[in-house]
Amino acid sequence: MESIKFKIPKSLRKIIFADLKRSHEYAYERVGFILTRLCESNNDKLILAYDYCAVADEDYIDDENVGARINSNAIRKAMQVAHTQKCGVFHVHLHMHLGKPTESFSDEEGIQPMMASVSRVNLHEDFGYLILSNDSAICKIYSEKKEEFFEPDIYTEIGYPMNLVFAKQVKNKKFSERQKRQTFLGENSNNVFEKINIGIIGYGGGGSHIGQQLAHIGFKNIYVFDDDSFEESNINRLVGAKYSDVKNKTKKTKIAQRSINDILPTANVIKIQKRWQEEPEELHKCDVVVGCVDSFIERQQLEAETRRYLIPLIDIGMDIYKVMDSFSISGQIILSLPGSFCMKCCGFITEDKLAAEAKKYGDIGGNPQVVWSNGVLASNAVGIMVDLILGWSVLEDRRVYLSYDGTRSLLKEHSRLIATPNDCEHFLLSEIGPPRLMEI
Ligand SMILES: [Zn+2]
Ligand SMILES: [Zn+2]
Repeated sequence: MESIKFKIPKSLRKIIFADLKRSHEYAYERVGFILTRLCESNNDKLILAYDYCAVADEDYIDDENVGARINSNAIRKAMQVAHTQKCGVFHVHLHMHLGKPTESFSDEEGIQPMMASVSRVNLHEDFGYLILSNDSAICKIYSEKKEEFFEPDIYTEIGYPMNLVFAKQVKNKKFSERQKRQTFLGENSNNVFEKINIGIIGYGGGGSHIGQQLAHIGFKNIYVFDDDSFEESNINRLVGAKYSDVKNKTKKTKIAQRSINDILPTANVIKIQKRWQEEPEELHKCDVVVGCVDSFIERQQLEAETRRYLIPLIDIGMDIYKVMDSFSISGQIILSLPGSFCMKCCGFITEDKLAAEAKKYGDIGGNPQVVWSNGVLASNAVGIMVDLILGWSVLEDRRVYLSYDGTRSLLKEHSRLIATPNDCEHFLLSEIGPPRLMEI
């Protein structure tokens, strides 16, 4: 099914908001232009916002009849940027109220023809406009074919919590018996459960708990990535597996589908029986991804890919190691949110760790794992994910790097988090979307 999504990091939204709120000598309001990249695969479209161009003070026209009128110079500059950066451009202005904005008559009369004509400068990208309110937004994309503007299926602001605006709301759907026990998740939860895609990378000790819980909560679209078949060594921790799966060498994605559909028959489980790297287009469709992978190199690759497509990634992992004569269990939960710190920024992935891992290459994968620690980490990752998407806790701009001491059963904020800056230098917004060839 064709789907169109527009994504913008909250960090960029904040910059835009601050710029547009500045007063102007004679214009009543300000406008600006958001730069976007279009990623297409099959019938799916992702429009990713990565930068912002303010309109220069002198490019406003003194006109008392409208809030803001800009001259042809400002429009020419926007077209120039679309041409040189090979990007899409979205006009943006503010409506200072709460809730989803609606266009005024002058918005439609003024902005729509302007953006339709700007769109001709680059036929490979999408153009349109955004109106931001204090807590929501409306996004309209221009369809060249139909010569009209339409809303993306989902408009997403990436931050904690995420802000999701759906073109079509699930109508008058009452809370099901399942949801009556979790009404605190809010009215929007029905839309979210129906329309959001959750990815699980690795359906083992951690991933299987995630799948099971997503089904209990009511998430309808779950993408499961795993190229492995079930074997006896997995039976100590993969929840939902049966002993017969050993003999049958059942694919782990099949176990995922079976467990999830046993709980939620209407769930749409998309099985990717490959490594995600072989089917990255499927990963790009996910709105949030939970990474349950074994190695640092896997984490690094997954983080790089999710950042490129503005996908929040929740990483979980654990280790059991020998200390003197006893054993110790430790683990972590990290939220890698585009526009915020990454796993390198917080010191979890380091060059030393990557080098040490590369040295003993082939050794990994047989690490000891236990069901109870996997369960603690996975359960908390699900809790964080639900809050990230639905914002039930009202925690704003939360940063997540939790360390798990499985020996003492403690889960607490990692001591390094406080000193971790939010500005990530490893993944730049300007590099989002598929890698591009540089022109010389
Ligand atoms: Zn307006
Ligand atoms: Zn970083």
